[in-house]
This record gives sequence, C-alpha cells and structure tokens, in this order.
Amino acid sequence: MATLLTTEYLPIGDPSCDLAREQLARAGRRIRDGGLVVFPTETVYGLGGDATRAESARRIYAAKGRPSDNPLIIHIADPQDAEPYAVTCDTYDRLARAFMPGPLTVILPRKPTIPTETTGGLETVAVRCPSHPIARALIRAAGTPIAAPSANLSGKPSPTCARHVMDDMDGRVDIIIDGGDCEIGLESTIVAISGEDNVTLLRPGAITYDALCMVIGKVQIADAVTEQLKEGERVLSPGMKYRHYAPDSPVVLLDGAPDAVLQYLMHEQQRCRCAILCYDEELSALQTSGEPLLFPVGARDDLVTQAHTLFTLLRHADRALPDIIYAHLPPMDGLGLALYNRMIRAAAHTIKRV
Ligand code: AMP
Ligand code: MG
Repeated sequence: MATLLTTEYLPIGDPSCDLAREQLARAGRRIRDGGLVVFPTETVYGLGGDATRAESARRIYAAKGRPSDNPLIIHIADPQDAEPYAVTCDTYDRLARAFMPGPLTVILPRKPTIPTETTGGLETVAVRCPSHPIARALIRAAGTPIAAPSANLSGKPSPTCARHVMDDMDGRVDIIIDGGDCEIGLESTIVAISGEDNVTLLRPGAITYDALCMVIGKVQIADAVTEQLKEGERVLSPGMKYRHYAPDSPVVLLDGAPDAVLQYLMHEQQRCRCAILCYDEELSALQTSGEPLLFPVGARDDLVTQAHTLFTLLRHADRALPDIIYAHLPPMDGLGLALYNRMIRAAAHTIKRV
C-alpha cells in the first residue's frame, strides 16, 4: 500500500481562465517534482507522473497496486512532441495526421529519455496525444511527457468521472483534477507499428478498425483483442494478460435474438437477484414489482452512449451485490469491437447463447 497522502481536489472548468491556468501550472510543477496528478482525458481519467523519471513510474504502480511489468502510456501535448522520446516513422506521421490529438495510442521504439520503469521493461513506448484541453494544458505546464495509466485501482473499471477517481485514489495521489465526465468512456485504441505500414490493433477504442484501415490500408487485429489467452501465451500488449475489470458478482454476456434474450432475462428475474445492463428498449418489460436491478446502457443501436456509460454502470451494478450480472454481447463491428473487448474481460469470457 502506498503511503497515505493528503490529496488536493481541483475542479477545473475552462482551462484557459486565469485561475485554471495558475492551478494547472502548479499541478504541472507537481508532476515535474515527482508528484502524481490525476487528470481528465477524452477517454478516461489518467493517473499522471513524469514519464522521464523512473521514480515517478514506481509511484504510479504503487498507487494503482499494478504489476510493474504492465507498461504506461506517455502523453504528449502535440504529435510532433514524440520525437525526443520515441523513434517515429512515416506510418506514425500518417496516423498522427489522421487521429491526433485524439483517442489513439501508438507503440514505437523507445529512446533512452524514457526509462524502462515507464515501459514495463520493454524497448518500446506507447505514445498518445489526448485531445482534452485540460490534459494538453497540464502536459504543457509540466514541460515533460506525462506517463499515465487509467486512474483506477488495479482490477477496477477505468474511471470516467472524478467521483470514481476519489473512490479509488483519495490518499494515494497528490492532486485530482476534476474536469467533469469523460466524453468517450473507454480507453484509447492502441496500435503497434512494425515495419512500414505494418500496423496491428492491440486494443480497440473509439478510433475504430475501419477508421484505421481507411488511413493505413490493411490492419491486423491481435488475437488477444477478441480471444481468451492460452496459458503462458506471449502477448503483444502486456495489459491484456491481466485480469481486467471483473466485478465480484459473476458477469454473463447474453447472445441471441432480441426476443429470446428478453424472455430469458424476464425468467431469470424470477429465479434470482440479477443485475441487468439492459437496452433502453427493454426497460418497461423488465420493470417488475420488486426492486429490479436495471442499469440502462442506452438504446440498442447507440454504441456511443453504451461506451460512455459502461464503466459507470459496471461500478453501480457491482455495488448492488447481485447474484449475477447480465449484459448483452456487443456486436464486433465499429465501436462495438471496443465494447466487446472490455465486456468479455469483465465476464471472464462467459457467454451464454439463448
Ligand atoms: P491503461 O494505461 O490502463 O489504459 O493501460 C495501458 C495499456 O497500454 C496496457 O494495457 C499496456 O499493455 C499497453 N501498453 C503500454 N505500453 C505498451 C508497449 N510498449 N507495448 C505494448 N503495449 C503497451
Ligand atoms: Mg487501465
């Protein structure tokens, strides 16, 4: 357990106002001095430290309770700022022009300015340029790239609002910047570049497989995106081998025709105390006289809203201590692939066909 700190809570609305600028300058100095600052991004909240300092990486791992071979993403304010820290290439430039600033992380060879403590011992480094104005202002204020994993305790869902961060990180970090709800709600898309135009999708996110293909042509998808790893299998992205968010209650994903799934859920409500991450369209049918544990994720076709609500609702459903949590198996195309990737981890790959 990390030493208990007094965590300063800093709500910031408009990062360009004088007060916010002064607060961000102070938070940036804290990072440069080796401190930890949680900040909002367009994906999820990040737990930031100086990416060039081994000691900051060690503090991040300790605060999260995360294994130190799970590498950190370094955050830069502008795509061209990658140069001193990573070996860039034409493919990086093309991806950067198309998607940065934004929710894309690119794995590149590491330069010595980034210590192996930050990269989990790897010779590569994950680089991302977030679009959130507070994140960019903080990175500029720090004057150094910010290494930041998601600001949750290891094993909890990524935080998408400051409330979740406070639940997990109060007393473990120096400053928490509250910039409101994260727009996207799922972590960034991660790709690895190996050789010219050889791009592999390691983790799907809001930058979809189709969008990447439009820019790069052919993109491979790592097996671990959709499949369960076999015992001892080598992974391209170390984070994929860890138990990701798995609530205390078992999660089961339902796959089948909409009517069949709804009938099954109504039947299960009679049988046990189940929490249901349901579509808005199912709400009225699932309202029962008792105390139904319903967590509407959005309309069936509205994957953007489902991505935005997923982690919050998993936290809420878990807190209700149900016998079981049911959710729909997401489609595997478009933004659905990112939802699918997170959900099969939360469900430890338990899928029931009905
Ligand atoms: P998080 O910061 O919680 O979103 O997790 C960061 C993810 O990025 C982890 O799952 C890592 O596996 C992945 N990652 C970071 N650096 C690298 C790298 N050099 N090579 C492959 N994957 C990486
Ligand atoms: Mg994470």
